Amino acid sequence: MDVYGLLGNPVGHSRSPPMHEAAYDELGMDARYVTFEPAPEALASAIGGADALGIAGLNVTIPFKQDVLDLVDPAPLAARIGAVNTVDFSTSPPRGYNTDAAGVTRSFAHHDVALDGRDAVLVGAGGAGRAAAFALADAGASVHVANRTVERAAELAADVRAATEDATVTAGGLDALADRIAGADVLVNATSVGMDEDATPVPADALHAGLTVLDAVYSPIETRLLRDAAAAGATTIDGAWMLLFQGVAAFECWTGRDAPVDAMNVALRAHL
Ligand code: NAP
Repeated sequence: MDVYGLLGNPVGHSRSPPMHEAAYDELGMDARYVTFEPAPEALASAIGGADALGIAGLNVTIPFKQDVLDLVDPAPLAARIGAVNTVDFSTSPPRGYNTDAAGVTRSFAHHDVALDGRDAVLVGAGGAGRAAAFALADAGASVHVANRTVERAAELAADVRAATEDATVTAGGLDALADRIAGADVLVNATSVGMDEDATPVPADALHAGLTVLDAVYSPIETRLLRDAAAAGATTIDGAWMLLFQGVAAFECWTGRDAPVDAMNVALRAHL
């Protein structure tokens, strides 16, 4: 039996086990997906122990995504983003990937939304924001990063420009958000605003029918931002798609097989 899992603290809320086990069931794989919650100071021994025990692959979540980078051989995209969310133990040393970026780009692709040459506004510059900024720039969008803490947006924009050829990335605060969104094709919310609350980081009257809005927040699935976006005539993509496609990309890293996307989507949404 192949053992996969999620390393984080806490992980009790995770929807990854049913999503991945649906894939194993669908493909008849002898595999399980379990959660592990090591103490933060035990991260290095957890990774070494997983390797020694023959664990096939781990997803990594808060608070370990940055620290695990130094414990694995990071793939180029993970190194540029500065965070690993997927570890493949089939090589020595284990290889670290970032599939949150694929979660963003594959969500747009699944909804037939092109990013190349488009103007994107990204709200948020934390962990999800970093992955989204690299994903959007790599897909050929010009990106404006807006964040409550302006310095963090500026730092992220500089990091993307330094590590991405021909990237157009600007940064600012939340005050000029409406002006930025007026001319944009794509809006991504990567703040935690709206998570388990009826709140939005974007003024409703800034939204328009020419936008496609991806909200990284997946609890609730229909956030206030997505309700406001739908009311403005925009195309909406909920955070479960991003969660699904980061899991799909992790499955494909680990197994080299095409993931059964529909089965994973049904299982994930049943648990949200
Ligand atoms: P994080 O690293 O803690 O970053 C939080 C971000 O939210 C920062 O940009 C922060 O701004 C901003 N923020 C927090 N409170 C705010 C407020 N009241 N007003 C304006 N901005 C505020 O968190 P994260 O890991 O990036 O996660 C962000 C969200 O994305 C969470 O809801 C998480 O569940 C979701 N997420 C979803 C997926 C998915 O697959 N769908 C994947 C990863 C994360 P400052 O820099 O100013 O503090």
